[in-house]
Amino acid sequence: MKKLRLILGDQLNLQHSWFQESDNNTIYVLAEMRQETDYVKHHIQKIVGFFLSMRNFYKAIQTQGHQAVYFQITDADNPQNLEKIIASCIEKYKIEKFEYQLPDEYRLDQQLKKISSNLKIESQAFDSKHFYTTRHELSDFFEGKKLLLMQNFYRNMRKKHHILINGSTPIGNQWNFDADNRKKYKGEVPVPSEKNFHTNVSEIIAQIKEAGIITFGNIDAQNFSWPTSREQSLEVLDYFCKNLLIHFGDYEDAMHTDEKFLFHSRLSFAMNSKMLSPKEVLETVITFYHKNEAEISISQVEGFVRQILGWREYIRGIYWKEMPHYAQMNVLKNDNKLPNFFWTGKTKMNCMSHAINQSLNEAYAHHIQRLMVIGNFTLLTQIHPDEVDAWYLGVYIDAIEWVEMPNTRGMSQYADGGIIATKPYVSSGSYINKMSNNCSKCHYNVKEKFGEKACPFNALYWNFLDEKKEYFKGNQRMAMMLNLLNKINPEEMYKIKIKANTIIEDMDSY
Ligand code: FAD
Ligand code: SF4
Repeated sequence: MKKLRLILGDQLNLQHSWFQESDNNTIYVLAEMRQETDYVKHHIQKIVGFFLSMRNFYKAIQTQGHQAVYFQITDADNPQNLEKIIASCIEKYKIEKFEYQLPDEYRLDQQLKKISSNLKIESQAFDSKHFYTTRHELSDFFEGKKLLLMQNFYRNMRKKHHILINGSTPIGNQWNFDADNRKKYKGEVPVPSEKNFHTNVSEIIAQIKEAGIITFGNIDAQNFSWPTSREQSLEVLDYFCKNLLIHFGDYEDAMHTDEKFLFHSRLSFAMNSKMLSPKEVLETVITFYHKNEAEISISQVEGFVRQILGWREYIRGIYWKEMPHYAQMNVLKNDNKLPNFFWTGKTKMNCMSHAINQSLNEAYAHHIQRLMVIGNFTLLTQIHPDEVDAWYLGVYIDAIEWVEMPNTRGMSQYADGGIIATKPYVSSGSYINKMSNNCSKCHYNVKEKFGEKACPFNALYWNFLDEKKEYFKGNQRMAMMLNLLNKINPEEMYKIKIKANTIIEDMDSY
């Protein structure tokens, strides 16, 4: 029977059982499509990264002896959408069965279900064999529970998959070393420079321009740094083990104006495109740790395992549990617009300037920059979560909706009413000052609440608590913050609110 097998841009999994045997009756199809480049405005590096990785994957499966067809974005016969591409391949190659791997994004899942049901030939969906969990495993795990605590899910995953565990005891006698993962980085140990592949991507950029795709952000055409093949992805993993793991946990929450990546792995793109599986990443890291236990402490490794086995799988489970209504949630009724500096990087706030410019230059910011600087600012200024989501989905090379949306709308913007975070991740300037060196070089004074030079985060923070206090009054985890709010005298509060509203009305001047 002649089969057509679809490979989406984030399904570049050479380890999938589909590729174990080649067969002359099976044709694989990969396509660069306007339907994918245009559903949100993307960073140029994100489009380049996906297109190049898809092209390399196409070459790799051909080398293995598989039959494959590829549509480049500028090909005259590229119909630019999934339905037409599938239909044209079925007709051209006289296909009798259509097969696809389950997409991770709700939008594509719906589209492929619809396309399949309209086909006149048989169709079948297969597991992508990427994640530790199935789509609905988290829903089953939390069935009947009010609180969907990541910690409980993570502990269960550790036990179920026998990861960092001796019998029933966690290695290091603790399930979680979170408290050891909060050091400020003061240059005590040098940060190795990031693994950069210096790929020349000028040709692909020219094609993106020729196709008329609107992008944003910056790119160095001669020095594209991200991995775009399985071999390169494995190199990034190896580099992480040998150079970064040793301090990963210590500086997980730190920020520094001279260090864009600190000890972060930069593996999210390789994993989200499925060039690497989370299982092989964890197995490699844990094996490396066991061989080097004299140098590497358990807190570094547990911190890393928690991100992938815990957070990554948890976020995916929440997405499938809560979609599609999750995409509309806005419990705090935030309604403001993103300021223009999110696209230009022009702001006097040093922390925001570093985090935004880095995002525009690298298509990357690490977790704490995403959560406690940029996300903190958008929540304090009460920006509509649709606007925040669209920016995060466009700007980061690793942004695919299943992982971007619960992190942004949920964890960072509290728009889901606490499904993910038990309290909003908001802070005044003092947290940013504690975890980074941004404030010492800032135009603003982190100690002041109002006045010309006051740190904008301060007034915005107290104003946010004041405006949302009714919503949060029953939340025990907010009790301390709301108590402190109540102690602010009315005269001071008046000045704070004037200051906060002036900032919100003209964010681009700050
Ligand atoms: P490391 O710090 O080295 O961590 C290792 C790996 O752990 C990451 O590669 C990632 O796969 C996983 N991980 C860590 N935290 C999370 C998390 N919260 N959710 C899921 N996986 C996690 N991650 C994405 O992959 N895509 C996104 O679009 C995305 N959007 C985010 C938006 C916001 C507002 C926030 C707060 C976080 C977001 N994250 C997202 C999670 C996290 O910031 C990135 O995974 C991480 O910064 C990627 O860099 P890294 O590979 O160097 O990570
Ligand atoms: Fe950011 Fe305020 Fe510190 Fe400036 S003073 S870097 S605006 S937290």
